Amino acid sequence: MKSFRKLLCIYIIVIFTGIIHAGSADADTVQMTYESLQSQQTVLGTVWMQTSAEYRASVYQVFNFAKSRFIEEKSKNYEKKLAVIVDIDETVLDNISTQAEYIKEGKNFSPKAWDEWRKAEKAAAMPGAVDFVNFIYENGGEVFYITNRKEAERKNTLDNLLKEKFKADNKHLIMKTGESSKESRRNQIEVDYHVAAYLGDDINDFIDAGATAEERRRKVDELSKEFGKKYFIIPNPVYGSFEAAINSDYYKTDYRGRTQMRENSLKGWKE
Ligand SMILES: [Mg+2]
Repeated sequence: MKSFRKLLCIYIIVIFTGIIHAGSADADTVQMTYESLQSQQTVLGTVWMQTSAEYRASVYQVFNFAKSRFIEEKSKNYEKKLAVIVDIDETVLDNISTQAEYIKEGKNFSPKAWDEWRKAEKAAAMPGAVDFVNFIYENGGEVFYITNRKEAERKNTLDNLLKEKFKADNKHLIMKTGESSKESRRNQIEVDYHVAAYLGDDINDFIDAGATAEERRRKVDELSKEFGKKYFIIPNPVYGSFEAAINSDYYKTDYRGRTQMRENSLKGWKE
């Protein structure tokens, strides 16, 4: 609470405008709404994903490990056909320029902004992703895309994948039709296929991790040996289910409340 007040002193918050007016108060302060502040808090993560060598290296690392694992699994001669399950957003398609737009506009994710984006079909392939999908097919496997994009987004999604040269078709594209959980959709594929690897940027791409941050970490600890072996996770510090897991009322509150919840979830060493 104390540190939150300190944060407010540093970032002078004024409700009149959604845009930063650098130097409008004085050289050392900025003015912005809580909505803008929430957006601003993703700047460094977005910069990391858009510009850093480290992010690209992390993504290549994931695809390379998953390829090796696939070959190992192939050598075991399972009776079932071999498959790999991949998430789409921030796993094989890069949408992070939407976040860059939100930041520039002092806004955050909205269904309307997302609709405009996916209709544009401009998401680029993640580094190494097309090569990975080709590799799986060249080695006798199939790739299923399980996404929480809705059924209504199917055409744009498939078109975008094909534009980026992914091998994909409607059979291998599993949209969200009901619940957000991907468990039943994974189970459906596992009936006919041995799934050699699961790739995603969110823990829910692998398991139903639970609602609280503590529960999610505990489940991951229980499955620690599976990461890098069965589950392959691409980092995403900008958005994901980790965000609301910090507080059960996260989406029931406003930008101001969420800013406070974010701050309260930090653990300083002096406390
Ligand atoms: Mg994703």
